[in-house]
Amino acid sequence: MATDRSSELQRRAEGRIPGGVDSPVRSMRAVGGAPRWIASAQGAWMTDVDGNRYLDFIASWGALLGGHAAESIIAAINAAARRGTSFGASSPGELDLAERIHARMPWVELLRFVNSGTEATMSAVRVARGFTGRNIIIKFAGGYHGHADVFLAQAGSGVATLGLASSAGVPANAVSDTLTVEYNDPGAVEAALQRHPNQVACVIVEPVAGNMGCVPPEPGFLGELRRLTRQHGALLIFDEVMTGFRVAPGGAAELYGVTPDLVTLGKIIGGGLPVGAFGGRGDIMRVLAPLGPVYQAGTLSGNPLAMAAGLAALDAATADVYPVLEQWGAQLAATLRQALPHCQVQRVGSMLTVFFCNHAVRNFSDAQRCDVAAFARFHARLLAAGVMWPPSQFEAAFFGTAHGVAELEIFAKNLPA
Ligand SMILES: *Cc1c(COP(=O)(O)O)cnc(C)c1O
Repeated sequence: MATDRSSELQRRAEGRIPGGVDSPVRSMRAVGGAPRWIASAQGAWMTDVDGNRYLDFIASWGALLGGHAAESIIAAINAAARRGTSFGASSPGELDLAERIHARMPWVELLRFVNSGTEATMSAVRVARGFTGRNIIIKFAGGYHGHADVFLAQAGSGVATLGLASSAGVPANAVSDTLTVEYNDPGAVEAALQRHPNQVACVIVEPVAGNMGCVPPEPGFLGELRRLTRQHGALLIFDEVMTGFRVAPGGAAELYGVTPDLVTLGKIIGGGLPVGAFGGRGDIMRVLAPLGPVYQAGTLSGNPLAMAAGLAALDAATADVYPVLEQWGAQLAATLRQALPHCQVQRVGSMLTVFFCNHAVRNFSDAQRCDVAAFARFHARLLAAGVMWPPSQFEAAFFGTAHGVAELEIFAKNLPA
């Protein structure tokens, strides 16, 4: 497989863009190998600048549910672009998408659009702090909520991939009110709440962890978070930037039957364009300006192209899509388990991780005890066989409705034993 053009672009990019990448995991530093520069993509497949084709399991890190360059999304973006790309004033797509999300998550009484998941979570925490008048936030080790300062303590995703405990450039006082406990450990949350009475503004959680690899919530975990936050006057925030409209028509809140106070969304609701959203209980969201004292704003927020793409993406994600994804995922997992009997394959719907270890991964410490060198070899063999797997042990792989029977067969055939 020739990669000369990718390598040449990467070399040039390293002279203009730090590490040659605009998001660190793309550098493939954790697994080695040449980052592939993508020329185009269609459905479940991507083509790099050297003309190599790859069966894609990154799906823009979960942003795509209906595959690349879906006709309906492209048509929606084109039509919206002709009407104007940004107004600096409200346009109907914002209301349409807010209503569409409300229809799927009826407990999201009010919501506001932003431009990324990072913006959504940092805004949700500001709202939680403004509403409760408290400062402390509780997050989980290996949980990733974007790159705002307040979350960069024992974070997952690229922070975990690069083996960083935190980030330079984040002053100690920016994370001094961030408490980190282990995922799937409600006892640790209760202890933290008791140690800081009337000081915890919120608990923020990925209801299915995806950024330490895919780690499902154990039965009762989310329910306990609901009970404990209520008991201690803290808000519960589900960060559904990844799980929202991926694991169920109403997100993880619907799948597990637990309703948070606030939710953050992104990825799928932008149909591949840059979007985030945060919302929830009306009494809480009304602390936002212009109604209340919490400031939050955005020049391009609710961008008409992004709203159009998001509407088309949600239109395509009908209820009958999810059982199909579930079945495809079950077959994918079975194929992987058969080929890799010494690995742990963990999956919820259309997100999945192959952990190179022989223990169940319940939290970040379990994930960190995996054999990342073995994962890197697995990744390299897949890539050479034309399968684009996320280049990190601590990320989930994603698929969508463009992954069909043929793709499953091709994957099984190319899976290294
Ligand atoms: C991707 C992700 C984010 C950050 O979203 P960006 O759009 O990359 O800023 C936040 N939370 C979770 C759970 C995510 O998966």
